[in-house]
Amino acid sequence: MDRLCIHSITNKPWRLDTLIDKYSVSGVPALTVWEDAIKDMGAKKAGDMLAKSGLDIVSYARGGFFPDLNKAKREENIDKNKRMLEDASILGAPLMVLVCGADPGQSLQQSRDQIRSGIEAILPTAADVGVKLAIEPLHPMYADTRSAINTLSIANDMAEYFHSEWIGVAIDVYHLWWDPQLKEQIQRCGKSGNLLAFHICDWNVPTEDLLLDRELMGRGCIPVKEISRWVDEAGFKGFREVEIFSNRYWNSDQDIFLRDIIAAYNEIYDKS
Ligand code: ZN
Repeated sequence: MDRLCIHSITNKPWRLDTLIDKYSVSGVPALTVWEDAIKDMGAKKAGDMLAKSGLDIVSYARGGFFPDLNKAKREENIDKNKRMLEDASILGAPLMVLVCGADPGQSLQQSRDQIRSGIEAILPTAADVGVKLAIEPLHPMYADTRSAINTLSIANDMAEYFHSEWIGVAIDVYHLWWDPQLKEQIQRCGKSGNLLAFHICDWNVPTEDLLLDRELMGRGCIPVKEISRWVDEAGFKGFREVEIFSNRYWNSDQDIFLRDIIAAYNEIYDKS
């Protein structure tokens, strides 16, 4: 379990203090923090709590949402991302994940150009505060409003464009498992030094909600074990981050769910 990380959104009903207690007691060594989880207390207090807990903080989620037809809105988003980077630094997170955004009122290419400009604008802040940025490509079903970065190839292009140690890519099996170029693009991502994060869950069959019906690893149709092997072979040594958005699991007993997450994780990685 030394590479297991759980994203705080996975146990959404738990507050940050409860998450810290439960993960510590269960032997989960790391977590990613969703901005909503620290909204009440602020980054300083949350950072103090996390530092005392001894848990590793893998990343802060999530910045991005750069494209907008309205220039003033784009500038607002850039300011928000800069503030989030400062919070990530106060929190002690080495990485901030970017859900890059899209505006359906313009072409995907225009949205991608605005994403590039947005990243360019916040990259100096990332370097200043010592927090890396990870572009997370999203499944094309989200290309309307959530992200114009829809394949690992596009994310690799974007990260390579900047040639900076402060920007890389987050690979999430839920978004990328279908891509016939996935293995090659994971190799490319590793080779360029851009593979910064790895997110795991599974695709429910049949899926009832395209956002909020993710499944435990090993219970759906994503070859999680095989993709994990490609990621390891590409040189990634970081945490495997369980990120499950699920109304069904959020409405269930979180202690049982946590036990099931750990069991599902061990089932895949114990013998690999
Ligand atoms: Zn993810």
